[in-house]
Amino acid sequence: MTKEELIQHAFQALRHAYVPYSHYSVGAAVLTKDGTVIPGCNIENASYPAGVCAERCALHNAYAQGYQKDDIAALAVVTEGNTVAGPCGICRQVISELMHGDTPIYLANRREIRETTIDELVPMRFGPEDLA
Ligand SMILES: [Zn+2]
Repeated sequence: MTKEELIQHAFQALRHAYVPYSHYSVGAAVLTKDGTVIPGCNIENASYPAGVCAERCALHNAYAQGYQKDDIAALAVVTEGNTVAGPCGICRQVISELMHGDTPIYLANRREIRETTIDELVPMRFGPEDLA
């Protein structure tokens, strides 16, 4: 699967975003090494901190299906906004634990694709090895 195809899956997931407060829809898609695409979207809540971002939704969905970091080939995160938005701080922390540091992350809107990794997004991060 090409990154463009994975991004299209993320745009399909974006349509399911529940965003009555921000009206800022985000879609995500995890690609596993067996070719499965697992969607995620942001889901807000009247108790704002109870909402969840699209990329965490997709990654948690992947883990709930039995996939782990060794199984994840890529993550795409998309918006309809004018900017290519990076993951928020909480998502960066979650991605840093649930994906390998060098797994491709595609950030996109309708005009632009940026490719990065969590190693690039979160250098010197806190992780499980710090609790050992
Ligand atoms: Zn987030």
